[in-house]
Amino acid sequence: MLLTEFNPNAIRSEFPLLTREVNGRPLVYLDNAATTQKPRTVLEALEAVYTHYNANIHRGVHTLSQEATQAYEEARTTVAQHIGAPERESVIFTSGATAGLNLLANLLTERYLLEGDTVLVSEMEHHSDLVPWQLNAPRKGAKVVKIPITDDGALDLEQLQALLHRERVKIVAVAHVSNVLGRVNPVAEIARMAHAHGVLVVVDGAQGVKHGRVDVQELGADFYAFSGHKIYGPTGVGVLWGRRELLEALPPWMGGGEMVGTVSFEGTTYADLPFRFEAGTPPYIQAIGLGRALQFYHECNQQAVSEHENRLMRRGYEGISQIRGLRVLGYSPDNAGILSVTHPKIHHYDLGVLLDRMGIAVRTGTHCAEPLMARFGITGTLRASFALYNTEAEVDTLIAGLERAVGMLA
Ligand code: PLP
Repeated sequence: MLLTEFNPNAIRSEFPLLTREVNGRPLVYLDNAATTQKPRTVLEALEAVYTHYNANIHRGVHTLSQEATQAYEEARTTVAQHIGAPERESVIFTSGATAGLNLLANLLTERYLLEGDTVLVSEMEHHSDLVPWQLNAPRKGAKVVKIPITDDGALDLEQLQALLHRERVKIVAVAHVSNVLGRVNPVAEIARMAHAHGVLVVVDGAQGVKHGRVDVQELGADFYAFSGHKIYGPTGVGVLWGRRELLEALPPWMGGGEMVGTVSFEGTTYADLPFRFEAGTPPYIQAIGLGRALQFYHECNQQAVSEHENRLMRRGYEGISQIRGLRVLGYSPDNAGILSVTHPKIHHYDLGVLLDRMGIAVRTGTHCAEPLMARFGITGTLRASFALYNTEAEVDTLIAGLERAVGMLA
């Protein structure tokens, strides 16, 4: 199904969940930054493993194990192609973006940080790319310092430059795309600035991986982490990609089966990439599902998908900004398919509850980005986030729903 002419209505029929009703209304699912719904082809791929060739991978001489191993390793190749990784061995399957970022915070701290060093973390970062640094950097007497953002929601590159000069920085951690604002950070430029100071760049790709073409080499990232469930794949699987020589220089992380060379009480040796960081039974069925999800995403034409999502975002912005009192936080037409809405008097939670009664699913709260909320002096936002199966009619339903909800609550 290669769709050059992108047609969300045709695509919707591939997603069984989208046909359900909520509170007697057709579901309008606009919580895609939290998780996406799954196409039939992914559900079928998962079922096929369970009903046809389920067996633990890498450990069996028997046919089922070999078939499952082959499908898992093919999924690794698909991921490598999706993110432009130069080789498949530097793609590590994890349980999600959070797991990958925690692995990095632990191991980069161990390997690189010294007393008095600094880790720079953006002010718009998800807690998954902030708290792991706060947990680990102090172990070595290093500190975590924020890269501020401007009033319009952009990362302040002048401040970043000043921090790179002023502090003894070893690591910069930044989201590819903000999960609150939808802001697309200029990762390639950030990487150039950081690398000029010999600083490593960790990119949280949880939202960026589904925004058009991703090429980790063009981005200049040293590490890139994401979750499968945000890009039409299953939960419980994610990816950590790293530059090979950097991954090879890291000590092992979790110990267990498959990550070893030989084991004895006298001394243990460790496996090569990627298995060195995949201790125990990996989420191989979910990884196979993720591989299928990425193929589906490519068949839909990823560039057309991101243009479609942004068209919906712009339409949403235009409608929502006409509604008295509503403000879209950090909006730019170049943002990536996310709208974060606030009202000076009405609580975002109340708006979200009323929308739910109309069958519209949005997210409310701090979106695991409390420092960003503090930056703007707010307690939270109502977030609508778009995916390839959303339609203009759904955006119009959201706008009408918000107008009604504001009218009821103001
Ligand atoms: N980073 C960003 C920008 C996110 O939006 C999220 C999830 O919302 C995460 C990290 C964490 O992803 P997960 O909970 O799948 O590990």
